[in-house]
Amino acid sequence: MAAHTVPTICPYCGTGCGVTVAVDGGRVIGVTGDERHPANRGRLCSKGATLDLTTLTTTRALHPELRTAKSQPRRRAAWDEALDHAADRFAAIIREHGPDAVAFYVSGQLLTEDYFVFNKLARALVGTNNIDSNSRLCMSSAVAAYKRTLGADAPPCCYDDIDLADCIVIAGANPAYAHPIVFRRVMDAKAANPDLRLIVIDPRVTDTAAAADLHLAIEPGTDTILLGAMLHVLIWDGYVDRRFIDAHTVGFDAARDAVRELTPEAAARVCGVRAEDIVTAARWFGQSRAALSLWCQGLNQSHHGTDNGAALIHLHLATGQIGKPGAGPFSLTGQPNAMGGRETGTMATLLPGHRDPANPADRAEVARFWNVPALPEAPGRTAVELFDALASGEIKAVWIACTNPAQSLPDQAKVREALAKAEFVVVQEAFADTETAVYADLLLPAATWGEKEGTVTNSERRISRVRVAVPPLGEARPDWRIARDFAFRLGDRLGRADTPGLFAYTEPAAIFAEHAALTAGRDLDLSGLDYARLERDGPRQWPYAAGATTGQARLYEDGRFATADGRARFVAIRQATVAEATDARHPLHLNTGRLRDQWHGMSRTGLAARLYNHVELPVASCHPDDLQRRGIAAGDLLQLTSRRGEIILPAAADAGQKPGHVFVPMHWGRRRLSSAGANELTVPALDPYSQQPEFKHAAIRIERADLPWRGLMLRRAADGEQALRWSRELTPLLADFDYAVLALAGRDVPVLSLQLAGAAPPAPDLLARIVATVGLDDPLALAYADSRRAVAKRALIENSLLAGLALFGETAAGGWLKDAMLAGQPVDPLRNWLFLPANAPPANLVNQRGRIVCNCQNVAETDIVAAIKAGATTREAVQERTGCGTGCGACLPELNRMLAAHRPT
Ligand code: SF4
Repeated sequence: MAAHTVPTICPYCGTGCGVTVAVDGGRVIGVTGDERHPANRGRLCSKGATLDLTTLTTTRALHPELRTAKSQPRRRAAWDEALDHAADRFAAIIREHGPDAVAFYVSGQLLTEDYFVFNKLARALVGTNNIDSNSRLCMSSAVAAYKRTLGADAPPCCYDDIDLADCIVIAGANPAYAHPIVFRRVMDAKAANPDLRLIVIDPRVTDTAAAADLHLAIEPGTDTILLGAMLHVLIWDGYVDRRFIDAHTVGFDAARDAVRELTPEAAARVCGVRAEDIVTAARWFGQSRAALSLWCQGLNQSHHGTDNGAALIHLHLATGQIGKPGAGPFSLTGQPNAMGGRETGTMATLLPGHRDPANPADRAEVARFWNVPALPEAPGRTAVELFDALASGEIKAVWIACTNPAQSLPDQAKVREALAKAEFVVVQEAFADTETAVYADLLLPAATWGEKEGTVTNSERRISRVRVAVPPLGEARPDWRIARDFAFRLGDRLGRADTPGLFAYTEPAAIFAEHAALTAGRDLDLSGLDYARLERDGPRQWPYAAGATTGQARLYEDGRFATADGRARFVAIRQATVAEATDARHPLHLNTGRLRDQWHGMSRTGLAARLYNHVELPVASCHPDDLQRRGIAAGDLLQLTSRRGEIILPAAADAGQKPGHVFVPMHWGRRRLSSAGANELTVPALDPYSQQPEFKHAAIRIERADLPWRGLMLRRAADGEQALRWSRELTPLLADFDYAVLALAGRDVPVLSLQLAGAAPPAPDLLARIVATVGLDDPLALAYADSRRAVAKRALIENSLLAGLALFGETAAGGWLKDAMLAGQPVDPLRNWLFLPANAPPANLVNQRGRIVCNCQNVAETDIVAAIKAGATTREAVQERTGCGTGCGACLPELNRMLAAHRPT
């Protein structure tokens, strides 16, 4: 029984679900969905529902750590010493090289108040526009598309529109994985309205695409061509709303002329879909009473991501499908508070209150408000440009807060070079083991989810209070406070007497009040909101001007847009495809994306063993024909090579991939893998409006990695902390192998796994270090060695259970022994089989459950297939028999797919 509960917000995706945190003895002991929160009405997905399993301490940054020379390791430092040192270094660089020689790189996971203080620090105190956010990597194309067409960065829709639409287009998004609660709402709407037509535009057959009435599996980068052809059909089939166009838009004639030749037949040849499917999609859209479009990274992460978003918005402007219930273009925000960063203007290309740093009047207005002489004029560096400038030496010091560029930026080799070259790197982080923390000269421990208070804004412009459930761990402090305390010191060194007044915040409510006041009269006006109202009335949508009694559910209902003349814009769209063409050396298309149960670089989700049960390891998913043609079997190790780097991953056969396409999840980096993962391969080509990189496509080749030596280590841990301690100690060894991956497995008792492969047997002392790290060097461990074949095996038995296993040089039995270990199966019947090279268990001795589909109810893929084969041919019947999908429901799309695949015809 919890001592008390605290309502707050899930820290993962931009759906912004409300969670209720149960706290006892200063610890989070449980999490449930907040039924009062309008974003989720009590539901949580598999990530949100396991938040309580991620409040472990082993990987947390607990106190400041400092090194004063690059050659030294960091040592523990006091906060005063750490911040004084940082201020000394920044002040010296600013004095010698000017304010643009330093930069701040922050995060869509910061709270709005954190964002605000960092922005003021950069703009008003340091005098640089070199402040950017990792939102550049996910939503900046949506920002630019909204601004170019509608006049302001304001998603016009709300979640209720999902219930009211009768045509939903999901373009470049897989909400079944990335925004599961939004997708459940889409599925609910479809169940309630069988006439609702769901169109999905995605190169892959994702769980989202599998649920569609029409799936347009386009070639990568052909979005604007497809959307242009849909506009062509809408125009020439007479579905446009000429009255709306004439009254509320400009530029339609040019847009019409631009798509005149873009017939469905012409587009079909480029997009790789059937012309009649383009016609059907356009007609469904045009015939609908209310058409809603949901989009995410598939459109944004392109070198023409802004055009992609604008081309989708054009469909709505041409048909008047905007500003009314159930209709409009609706970007699904990737991060929990990317919207807050956009509102506070904490990106190089923004200023507070949706102002523009290139606009002298906007700069002057903010400078007046902050009572500083002026804001900097020189353009700031956006994310990729910022790290390029760090590599070239133009930027000498960088302050990185709550983000992990050494895992998440494209072309990782260049990012590593930049961080290694930087004169001074500050990393302000809750987690001490991130790939970026390795480069920190100063590591500052930040408070994290459950430990800090403020606000976030979700995809539908709804601002929610984030509350403290437990005190910060160790010496961790809230991000806004760290930025403020650094500002005090830096201002002192720069001789800025106004600093104490600029940063006179003692609690986040005052920061929010200043932020809200800066939005007065702007499109996002939230001057009527403060903490007291949010506490009293709950989460509110903006705009919410002073004197308002409610927020605005949807925008542009009066047909007046946020442009100077009130009219929306049809804009010029490039009909480009991908930035990097395939060729004979790199003939395949790489696509990167998310998994259902992991989040970003896994700093948090990577802590919970349960979240590996759906997908344990990163794999390269290829069409079966592509594997067969190369003589590669599923499970073989592949080398994937782009023009920037190479990685090794196991191959997976996936008929949902188009031939010639490879999908790699974006979550894994050097913490758990012998390479930097997907971003070793990705291309840093930028959209000219948004400067967002093209994560969604790179040209690659694949070939079988000839790594005959294999190793496997499995170790049952007493608890999650012990598993993470072992994992942290093993991370530095991963790079010594051609292929190595660390993972967790299990439910209540975690099992740490380490899979290894090499061209030749590794040095014995390297293997001995692995064995010693996890206590498999126990003298009671059973051991087997065949030095002639370079095979060495050990098994540790504790309390009649297999507690640890090392299979070096021969791993055939690894899979089923792991199943026995996870099931807590008594080891006695298996004792004689432990070291045999048998890839199947002795008859009936081990129940091989395989992949877990339903994390809440612990239902495996094999359980579901068995239930279907036993006659459970409806979703309800499978649910009744297995419990699958009766918890958070994140697995329901997959359950539906499995039913379709295995149900007897
Ligand atoms: S959909 Fe899942 S990850 Fe996203 S906010 Fe809701 S619970 Fe969190």
